[in-house]
Amino acid sequence: MSKAAPSPLPPGSTIGILGGGQLGRMTALAAANFGYRVHIFCPEAGAPASLVSAATTVAAYDDAAALEAFARAIDVVTFEFENVPAETVERLAAHVPVRPSWRALHLAQDRLREKTFLSELGIAVAPFRRIDSPATLARAVTELGTPAVLKTSRFGYDGKGQIKIEAGADPAEAWRALGVELGILEAYVDFAREISVIVARGMADETASYVPVENRHVRHILDTTVAPAPIAKPLAHRAQAMAGRIADALELIGLVAVEMFETRAGELLVNEIAPRPHNSGHWTIDACHVSQFEQFVRAVAGLPLGSPERHSDAVMKNLIGDDVEEWLKYVAEPAARLHLYGKTEARPGRKMGHVTRLKPRSN
Ligand code: AMP
Repeated sequence: MSKAAPSPLPPGSTIGILGGGQLGRMTALAAANFGYRVHIFCPEAGAPASLVSAATTVAAYDDAAALEAFARAIDVVTFEFENVPAETVERLAAHVPVRPSWRALHLAQDRLREKTFLSELGIAVAPFRRIDSPATLARAVTELGTPAVLKTSRFGYDGKGQIKIEAGADPAEAWRALGVELGILEAYVDFAREISVIVARGMADETASYVPVENRHVRHILDTTVAPAPIAKPLAHRAQAMAGRIADALELIGLVAVEMFETRAGELLVNEIAPRPHNSGHWTIDACHVSQFEQFVRAVAGLPLGSPERHSDAVMKNLIGDDVEEWLKYVAEPAARLHLYGKTEARPGRKMGHVTRLKPRSN
């Protein structure tokens, strides 16, 4: 049974976003199309999202007075990253609806919590163990075998905070190198490809799923997304069904990106979930009826979801560090769509923009 119709946020309302990066920027651009104002809260001045938003509060995430003033200035609040402290969310929730809920953020903040939640839901993940000492690591390596991947439980992204454990490695040394109090050891997955699915879930509990895409990484950073992933239809449907179950189990209002490994045996193992717009969904801006960013805004604002159908196939390439110097070349390419994030300094590994190349839809 579906819930009572949500009351949609009228145009002119203000959406608050914690975080000022490119995900917030592209969300703010989509929000503007519905006449919403966006108010960013982030610690840095001149952030990519601030450059296209009506207002910004520049303050630390634990600045109670700034958070309360921010909450009074907005009608709803969301996040463009998941590592938001619990107290921050509590302070905001006292004044304004928080979407998605704290539960989705909390789960995605910690790999152990996330993998435990997924296993309990019956979603396949790589075998894993909780690690809190060289002794637990030594035992887990014996149980899971080598190679294996040792990761920090929290604050890991783009391959940061992970170490591959080969046969004969010294557990004490690996544990010291990781340098945290809590970690997770995962069996190494010899995958055929990495895919992801983005699902939007609205206030009437409806979901809209984008087609699975293939993600290719270079030095652990997403380099290219191919949409759709070149996989058989039944596997694509399975991946979408898994992502939908995760969104439902989270009772999510917003988006969830689900990253998966396709094993050589045709199995799907979930690696990570992110309850927000995702780099592997940037192609949807140019190739779908409704982009992931507009879908996110619709969910958070209590509007009906739009169509996630794609009208074109697409290949999205991230412009990382110096890649951005070639920007004019992409502007001159007829089927390329360039998106730059307004960052002034092109540090190595920094995502400066992306380019999406469109092709007629294949199937
Ligand atoms: P993560 O930080 O968990 O998103 O991992 C970053 C990248 O490391 C993934 O996209 C994979 O390419 C690789 N990776 C992570 N976990 C594993 C694993 N258990 N087996 C093999 N490769 C992995």
